[in-house]
Amino acid sequence: MKHSNKKLLIILLFGKSGAGKGTQADLLIDKFGLKYIGSGDLLRARKNKKDFTGKKIAEVMQKGGLMPTPVIFKLWVDKVEGLKNEKKLKGFIIDGSPRKIAETYLIDELLKWYDWDKNLKAILIDISNKEAIWRLTKRRQCKKCKELIPFVGEFRKIKKCPKCGGELMKRPDDSLAAVKNRLKWFKTDVQPILNYYRKTGRLIKINGEQSIEDVFEDVLKDLGK
Ligand SMILES: [Zn+2]
Repeated sequence: MKHSNKKLLIILLFGKSGAGKGTQADLLIDKFGLKYIGSGDLLRARKNKKDFTGKKIAEVMQKGGLMPTPVIFKLWVDKVEGLKNEKKLKGFIIDGSPRKIAETYLIDELLKWYDWDKNLKAILIDISNKEAIWRLTKRRQCKKCKELIPFVGEFRKIKKCPKCGGELMKRPDDSLAAVKNRLKWFKTDVQPILNYYRKTGRLIKINGEQSIEDVFEDVLKDLGK
């Protein structure tokens, strides 16, 4: 039984906070009709089932803790199984995972099971620590709908939330100390994951210190699209 599809795109997006991953994910989804798998969304949906794990997920999320791999992995397996059974699937983007090297191996094994391991591309939107700090301490969030407004391109000029017209403010988690903490996590935890994808020939590194359009153009070029 062969179900592999050479054209199917499976994309993992990586980047320091502020690199503009979310924006590039949206552009890729629009361009190729991809599905989106966000660990955050999966967890929020699972939390609504008020059983033991649902309640515990709510607790961990509230404390901002890291979800244990078996819990998040169960959700991915169910999600990927659903996608495999879709007739006209063009591909999907996994956002917010893997967060540990162990999860990286598990994702590979999972994709191998579905005969999709060759379709995976890991895209790093690369920005320096200096740029990340600059962008994060300057970005804003909508008071009403919580939409994040990146400090890049046209977004720098807007005064009101583009989604709901709400007032914009600085985010408390974007203090310098918090940003530095996230950069430290990127170095210790994410860098080994990127090294693994580089060694297995699936890493695409993009200069993220350009306009949104130029970043996207480079992504398309390196995907061979
Ligand atoms: Zn808003």
